[in-house]
Amino acid sequence: MIYVEKSAENLPLTNLIAKEHNIEVVDNSMEVEDKKSNVVISNHNDNFVHRCPATNIYRCCNYHVVDIMQGCPFDCAYCILQLYLPHKYIKVAGNTDNVLSDIKSSVMNQKRRIGSGELSDSLAMDKIIPLSKIIVPFVNKLDNILFEFKTKSDVIDNLLNLNPKNVMVSWSLNPASIIEKEEPYTASLERRLKAAETLSKYGYKTGFHFDPLIMTDNFEKLYGDLIENLTSRINEESVEYISISTFRCPSELMNIIRQRKNPSILTKGDFIKGIDGKTRYFKAERIKMIRFVTEKIQKYWKKPFIYYCMEHSSIWENILNYDPGEREEFETYFPCYNK
Ligand code: SF4
Repeated sequence: MIYVEKSAENLPLTNLIAKEHNIEVVDNSMEVEDKKSNVVISNHNDNFVHRCPATNIYRCCNYHVVDIMQGCPFDCAYCILQLYLPHKYIKVAGNTDNVLSDIKSSVMNQKRRIGSGELSDSLAMDKIIPLSKIIVPFVNKLDNILFEFKTKSDVIDNLLNLNPKNVMVSWSLNPASIIEKEEPYTASLERRLKAAETLSKYGYKTGFHFDPLIMTDNFEKLYGDLIENLTSRINEESVEYISISTFRCPSELMNIIRQRKNPSILTKGDFIKGIDGKTRYFKAERIKMIRFVTEKIQKYWKKPFIYYCMEHSSIWENILNYDPGEREEFETYFPCYNK
């Protein structure tokens, strides 16, 4: 059900959604049952664009996020939202004019990579909440931005009627069997790859996030097959970048993962406490996993920029023989800064 807080009636996004769907007006979100199938359109004034939260112990790429939507219909075992969000329903900012103006201000003097996939999946709800129709035409008019929709869905119909200029769509990838077990309600691997093929042919830049890599008995076979499948189907010229990182999480999230109804493979892993306090695989194991995926991708694709999200400089040096440096230096390695 789609609920609209009184203060969000007649906002642009509310009007757009009301054209196609039934909505119910409520005084505020307290009246709404807290479940993932409920959407609440609100009129909240946050600072919508901010730098990705990071520690200075691990290498961070200076990515910026726009928090227009908070909550996700999917139910990944490792999802950080289980810890971060105080609600399960999907909250969306109806005052999209404010969101767009924050995006514009943040790229006034500086080129930025900005994405909407931090507190939600960027496209999972796009049939009902067509944010792409609002965001893409707006960013198309800006010079200093590469906007990223990050998803585990194949909801791409709206994008096929929009201008792909300065927009990229990226998919988080895991082997099909891990998706089935650990990422409930998301699109299958096949559907994600099909969507990526379609959008890359349409002209969108694409990206792929091997994040989180999850250790299993047959890790090399599963991830090797996935990479062969990906690289045989997508034209590498469309690939803007690829991230790789192993599973890590705050220890409080690990407790939540252990209590899930269907036991996750992650409950069987061997972990340590990293220097940032987060639960991670042992360093030697992380290097082995990241090296395997890096080398397998590079066997088929030479061009796409590969980076490691929130990994220590020693891991970069060990596998790629360089350290990308602090945020401002790191981001200059991305192709959009060199065009
Ligand atoms: S798709 Fe992302 S935001 Fe949604 S449940 Fe999975 S990890 Fe969380």
